[in-house]
Amino acid sequence: MLENFMKNKILVTGGAGYIGTHTCIALHEAGYDFVVYDNLFNSSREAINRVSTLIGQTIEFIEGDIRDAESLKQVFAAHHFFGVIHFAGLKAVGESVAKPLMYYNNNVSGTITLLEMMSEYDVKNFVFSSSATVYGNPESLPIDESSKRSCTNPYGQSKLAVEHILEDLAVSDDSWNLIALRYFNPVGAHPSGQIGEDPNDIPNNLMPYISQVAVDKLEKLSIFGNDYSTVDGTGVRDFIHVTDLAQGHVAAFDYLEKQTRLNESGTTQQYSVGFLPINLGTGKGTSVLELVSAFSDVSGQAIPYQFTDRRAGDIASCYASVDKAKMLLGWQAELSITDMCQDTWRWQSMYPNGYDVS
Ligand code: NAD
Ligand code: UDP
Repeated sequence: MLENFMKNKILVTGGAGYIGTHTCIALHEAGYDFVVYDNLFNSSREAINRVSTLIGQTIEFIEGDIRDAESLKQVFAAHHFFGVIHFAGLKAVGESVAKPLMYYNNNVSGTITLLEMMSEYDVKNFVFSSSATVYGNPESLPIDESSKRSCTNPYGQSKLAVEHILEDLAVSDDSWNLIALRYFNPVGAHPSGQIGEDPNDIPNNLMPYISQVAVDKLEKLSIFGNDYSTVDGTGVRDFIHVTDLAQGHVAAFDYLEKQTRLNESGTTQQYSVGFLPINLGTGKGTSVLELVSAFSDVSGQAIPYQFTDRRAGDIASCYASVDKAKMLLGWQAELSITDMCQDTWRWQSMYPNGYDVS
C-alpha cells in the first residue's frame, strides 16, 4: 500500500502560467501537495509569489525546462510523485506557423522527455493540456470526444501528436493512466484579482483583447468576420472560466486516485485508465458580439469595435459536449459569462500591465 503522502504529490509542469497558477490554487484547496516546474519562458516569478500569498504558504518551485532530462531527473529523484499535470508548452497559433520547429521541439520533444522520465521513475498518472483545436472544423455540434480530429497549424498538430503518443503508450503498457483534457476557450481570472492571463504582446485571443480595450491599452477591437452562419454572424465559442477549468484538473486527479485505491484494495478487478480524452467546456456557445456586450455591461466601459475580414483558419462555431466529464469525473462548469467578464475586468483593472508592476 502506498503511503498517503506519496499519493498526494503532483508535479505541475508549466505551473507558473495562466491555467497552471489557477490549478495550483485548486490543488492546494483540495488537499494536494505539488511542485511547480517551469522555465518561465511565458511567465514570471511574480505569478508564483502571488499564488504563494493566496494559498498562505510558499510554493515549491523549480526553474527548469521539460526538455532538460538531467534537470527533470533530479526532480523525480527528489520527490515521490503520484502523477504529473503537464501544462508546459507554447500556445500561440500564429507563432507556431512562423516557427514550427520551435513548437514541435518544445511541445512534442519536451513531452517525450517528460514521459521517459516518468517511465524511469514509475510515475504513470498523467494529465495533459490538450485543446479543442484537435477537432479542427467540427462536422457536428456539440463536439464529443469521439469526433474526428484534424489540425491545420503546427500548434494544433503538436497537441494532436502528443495525443497520438499517449494513445500508443497506453496500448504498449496498461499501467499508464493518461488523461487528455481538451480545453475549449479558457478565460477569466482568480476572483481575488491577483492572478490572471498576462499576454506578452498584443493579445491574439478575444477576451484579453477586449479587456485591454476596456482599460484603454488598445484602441478598438477588430471582429474577424460578421458573415458566419451563427446567431449574429460573428464566431461562436465555448468560453470557460479558468477556475472551473482548474477544478476539472482536480477532478481528473481525484478520479485517478480513486482508480488507484480500487486497484490497491484488491477487491475489484484491476482497472487501467489507458488513454482517456475528456472535454472541458461549458457546453454553451457565446458569440463574439455577445461577449463584447457582456464585458461592456460588467465593466461600464464602451468597447469600440470594427468588423474586419475573417481570420484565416477560424471556424464558425465550436462548443463542447460535456457529458463525459460529468459522467466520469463528476465535474461540470459552474460559472457564467458574467462571472468570466467580472473576474477578467477585476484583474485587468487592478493590474493593467499584468505581472509587470515596475
Ligand atoms: P501559459 O503560456 O500561460 O503557460 C504555459 C507555461 O509553460 C508557462 O509558464 C511557460 O513558461 C511554461 N513552459 C513553456 N515551455 C516550457 C518548457 N519547455 N519547460 C518548462 N516550462 C515551459 O499557457 P496556458 O494558457 O496556461 O496554457 C497551459 C497549457 O494549456 C498549454 O499547454 C496550452 O497549449 C494549453 N491550452 C491552453 C489554452 C488557452 O487558451 N490558454 C487552450 C487549450 C490548451
Ligand atoms: N476574435 C476576434 N477578434 C480578436 C480575437 C478573436 O473577432 O481580436 C474572434 C475569433 O475570430 C473567434 C473568437 O473571437 O471567432 C475566439 O477567438 P480566440 O482567438 O479567442 O479563440 P480561438 O479562435 O482559438 O477559439
